[in-house]
Formats: sequence, structure tokens, C-alpha cells
Amino acid sequence: MIVVMKPNASQQQTNHVVQLVREMGLKEHIIVGEERTVVAVIGNDRFKDRTAMESVDGVDKVVPILAPYKMASKEIKKDRTIVALQKDGGRIGGNKVGVIAGPCSVEDKTKLLEIAHAVKEAGAIGLRGGAFKPRTNPYSFQGLAEEGLKYLALAREQTGLAVVTEVMAVEQLALVAQYSDVLQIGARNMQNFNLLSAAGEQSKPVLLKRGMSATLEEFLLAAEYIMAKGNTNVMLCERGIRTYEDYVRNTLALAAVPELHRVSHLPVIIDPSQGTGKSYLVDSMCRAAVAAGADGLIVEVHNDPEHALTDGAQSITPKQFEDMMRAIKRIASAVDREA
Ligand code: PEP
Ligand code: MN
Repeated sequence: MIVVMKPNASQQQTNHVVQLVREMGLKEHIIVGEERTVVAVIGNDRFKDRTAMESVDGVDKVVPILAPYKMASKEIKKDRTIVALQKDGGRIGGNKVGVIAGPCSVEDKTKLLEIAHAVKEAGAIGLRGGAFKPRTNPYSFQGLAEEGLKYLALAREQTGLAVVTEVMAVEQLALVAQYSDVLQIGARNMQNFNLLSAAGEQSKPVLLKRGMSATLEEFLLAAEYIMAKGNTNVMLCERGIRTYEDYVRNTLALAAVPELHRVSHLPVIIDPSQGTGKSYLVDSMCRAAVAAGADGLIVEVHNDPEHALTDGAQSITPKQFEDMMRAIKRIASAVDREA
């Protein structure tokens, strides 16, 4: 960090800042300018409390130089991370755009298998579907729990698709990991720190969604919780944020793709379904996401959206999914990638 002193700061105040820097186990380099003095802090101050320094007498501002996250940061790892969804299975993070598709929630065996076969046929590498659903209303469909996980595992057996499904609580983790290939941690749980740590202590890859009011820094610090426990197979999923806008369910922040790529080596996935809430906007956002460099997409697909138990309005049909896959192949090749 760089500590910028106020124009009228006294020598004593600068000395005190130096003393505090040394107490942190770091070194200082003082630059005396014509108008003000700057104390450059030398050493790894990533985990030091910079905000405390801001309130010290004579300090004008503190400019961080290192990102507060480490494992998730490009400062630590230059090459991009590629996450294998399954052993010898599809990957997310390479030249090829990886697509995960399926219903919002697992509703019954027949429907799930039909959707799974259709998305596999169209080129998906992963099957999504919630068995534990985080619902706003406690009286809404909450998911089929273990029964749903069993249907997902059956769909994997028949199609080879990697199963991506949400885990909402530490107590569910072992059960969900037993049936799935990738653990999804949802927007509402992005700062469930116990869950993040528990997901870091097991070996299945994690698809972490951005909280609907989280900054990118908070998002990356959430990923850091998982990685700090030893699991470095983390995929960041932008699923839209809450804004004043109401023509969409969430505002899909596509600039997050290049920005996350700038600061982190982790793959970035776009969820255009939660990201818009409208099935008719999904195709365009998938194409835009690929053009922006997204490593993957996670898309809600339902064979009867009108009767879906959750998120029907934002679910596309298998036919629409097939058309979208064809479209993103063209976009991908235009940006020297594959889909
Ligand atoms: C979902 O994928 O269906 C879901 C609940 O996502 P999010 O956590 O992004 O709202
Ligand atoms: Mn959903």
C-alpha cells in the first residue's frame, strides 16, 4: 500500500505512520514531495488492515497496491485455470466455451432425462438442475432433495454429462457431493463463509455465483475462502446484480467477464437465465457473453417452460437451446475460439 500524508502533515505524524508500518513487520520508503509526503510500504501487506491506517492523524488516503485476495489473483498465478468438470470429462477455461444446461430445478425423472438427452445432443458438457432450491417464499417448491440428486446421477449415467447442482448448507455438502460432479454455491450463499470453507475442504469443483449485491472484490474474496482451504477448482459465475432496472429480473454485468479475467486466473461463466429472467433475452446474452470472452455458460432449459415449477419465464426450450448453440459456434469462431 501507499500511504499519502495530508499536505500539512507534521514530521511527527509521518514518523508515527512509519512506526505503525514497522509494527506490521513491513518496511517503509519515504518520498518527500514538494507538497506532501508519501510513505510507500514495502512487503506483503495483503492481509494487513489498511482501513485502520486511513484514520491515523495526518493520513490523507491509503492506496492499495496488492489485491486483498491471493490465490484467486493473477499476481500469484499467471496462466489461466482450466477446470475439469469430471475426470476425463468436459473442461471450462480453455479455448472451447463450455456449456452447462438443464432445468432450474429437478422436477421429475422423465422430464429431467428428456432435457438431459436434448442438451447433450446439442453440445452441452454439463447438466444443471437444483435438488435443493433457495426459494424466496417458504411455501414455494423447495426441490426434491436426495430424490432429485438420484435423478441427476441417473441422467449422468445415460448421457455422460457432468452434474452441476446447488448446495445450500454445510450439512448438505456430503450428500450433494456424493451424487454430483460440480457443487454450485448460489448467489444467496456467496458470503456463507462456513459453506465456502467446507466446499474448499473437499475436492469437487465449485461453481460460485456472484451475490446479487456483491462487488467483484467481495466475489473474489468469496472464491478465496474456497481456495484458501485447498480447493483451487473454482469457477466464477456472473448471474446479474440487483439494480433499479425492472425490464429484467437482474442486470447482467457482462463487463465482469473481461474485468475478472484482468485480475484473476479463474474461469468465468455467464448465467443469462438468472441474469435476465426473460427467456427471449437468453440467446442474445449467450452470444454477447461468448463475444466478451466468457469461458462458459450455464443456461436454464425446460421442455415445458409454461409448467415449470421454478423459473419457467427464463427457461428456453431444447429447440431454442439447439439454435443458441449453433449461434455461439459462429460467434466463437469469430473470436478465435470454439463452442
Ligand atoms: C439457479 O441457478 O437456479 C439459482 C437459484 O441461481 P442464483 O443462485 O444465481 O440465483
Ligand atoms: Mn433458476
